Amino acid sequence: MSFLPKIASRYRLILLLSLLLSAAFFATTLLGYMVSKQAIRAAIIGQDLPLTSSNIYSEIQKDLVRPVLISATMAHDTFLRDWVLKGEKDVEEMTRFLEEIKIRNGAFSSFFVSEKTGNYYAGVGIAKKITPTEQRDTWYYRVRDMKEDYEINVDRDMINRDALTIFVNYRVFDFAGNYIGATGIGLTVDAVYRLISSYQQRFQRTIYFVDTQGQEVLLGDQSGARPNLRQRPGLNDQIEQILKTGSGSYQFTDKGDNHILNVNYLPELKWYLFVEQNEDIALAGVRNTLYINLAISLMVTLIVIFLTYLALSRYHSKIEEMASTDKLTGLLNRHAFSILIDKLMASYHRKPQAVTVLLADVDHFKNINDRYGHRVGDEALVSIAANLKGALRDADFAVRWGGEEFLIVLQNCTQEEGKRVGEKLCLAIETSTPCASAPSIKLTISIGVCQFDGHESTEQMVNRADTALYSAKSEGRNRVCLAA
Ligand code: GH3
Ligand code: MG
Ligand code: MG
Repeated sequence: MSFLPKIASRYRLILLLSLLLSAAFFATTLLGYMVSKQAIRAAIIGQDLPLTSSNIYSEIQKDLVRPVLISATMAHDTFLRDWVLKGEKDVEEMTRFLEEIKIRNGAFSSFFVSEKTGNYYAGVGIAKKITPTEQRDTWYYRVRDMKEDYEINVDRDMINRDALTIFVNYRVFDFAGNYIGATGIGLTVDAVYRLISSYQQRFQRTIYFVDTQGQEVLLGDQSGARPNLRQRPGLNDQIEQILKTGSGSYQFTDKGDNHILNVNYLPELKWYLFVEQNEDIALAGVRNTLYINLAISLMVTLIVIFLTYLALSRYHSKIEEMASTDKLTGLLNRHAFSILIDKLMASYHRKPQAVTVLLADVDHFKNINDRYGHRVGDEALVSIAANLKGALRDADFAVRWGGEEFLIVLQNCTQEEGKRVGEKLCLAIETSTPCASAPSIKLTISIGVCQFDGHESTEQMVNRADTALYSAKSEGRNRVCLAA
């Protein structure tokens, strides 16, 4: 039975608590995630990608040093220069020279182009004659006219089935300092391809080269159309700017994922090195931590709420008990009575059944207090209350009405039956020993009985019982009187 009407406030408190806890947990967890995310992004942009890029770049530069040296040696070779000056007679001799250099150095191809004859010598003999009008030969005229001793040029090698090749083109001069042609070796891009694959696997980053046209450079044995970055979603509108600016950090979105891009221009190859990181993949770790943190927060919130609920319920029922019972005797108090009787009356109006109340008052109780003191009086009251309660059925209830007055409500009970119950109670008290500390004390009670007439108020009903009690007192006490 619940007597406190403020039950809703308990739920309001729990709701407030859960809101507060969830908000606090959610905010701190989310803040932590944001901070980690920022830190990871900053590390990707500031360190990881630039470092990968410059590592690859320096590896490539290192790989290019030896071929440049070999080409320089070829350009300064006395045999080569003498052979040209003597009129390029024995093609076989030149072929052997080039083939040997190629094999000895593990190069992909070796060549010499004569300024005088226009012959393109390779390990297989005279491969072709170059002409200024041929698109594929423009490289030679560029080399002839450039100021530097050599250039590195990435091109298709027609002698080797148009394989993508890194050429070192070195200018050759005779002993008098006259320009007589260009020589050098060609390297496959396999080494570069392997380097990039290993980086790609190690760091889960996409690494590729882009030429000055914005076209991805296909390395290794890849076949198919070369993807143009102008068609790449998210990058298409930035690519012009990237090609113009060259090296730098960029961001773009592709298929809903944020990508961070580091671009490094490699002047030796005239390629851009693109190092790309899918940020969502990089953030998978912190995202998992976020989910775990949220789950823990939720669990802690639920546990705290559950414990609070338990504590509140206990506290609440304790308060309810305190508010509804009499401290001394443990019987219901008047406040509890008013709630119960209202319920009983309501159920009476739904389905009438006899309700009878008994008002009992201890006879000459004042004398006990006067003779034995208040403590003994209290002991007697506790004992009488227990006696009365013990004699009742479950559906009935006893109330401490006043100092030494008790009100008993009997459900489904007529006035006559109530009288019999009253007499039983009188007998029980009369024959009991209410004070264990003073066994000689004997007490009696007088009772007024009244059945609810179906119309009157609770107050009127109790008043009628009180009048009957008064009659019992005047008729000599230790007896039961019925109300009129
Ligand atoms: P009667 O009812 O037979 O006319 O005589 P009575 O002596 O019982 O009369 P009255 O109602 O005047 O006295 C009741 C006494 O009960 C007075 C008061 O001191 C005492 N009393 C009331 N409440 C308590 C209580 O909680 N403890 C104790 N020890 N005494 C109480
Ligand atoms: Mg009294
Ligand atoms: Mg009395």
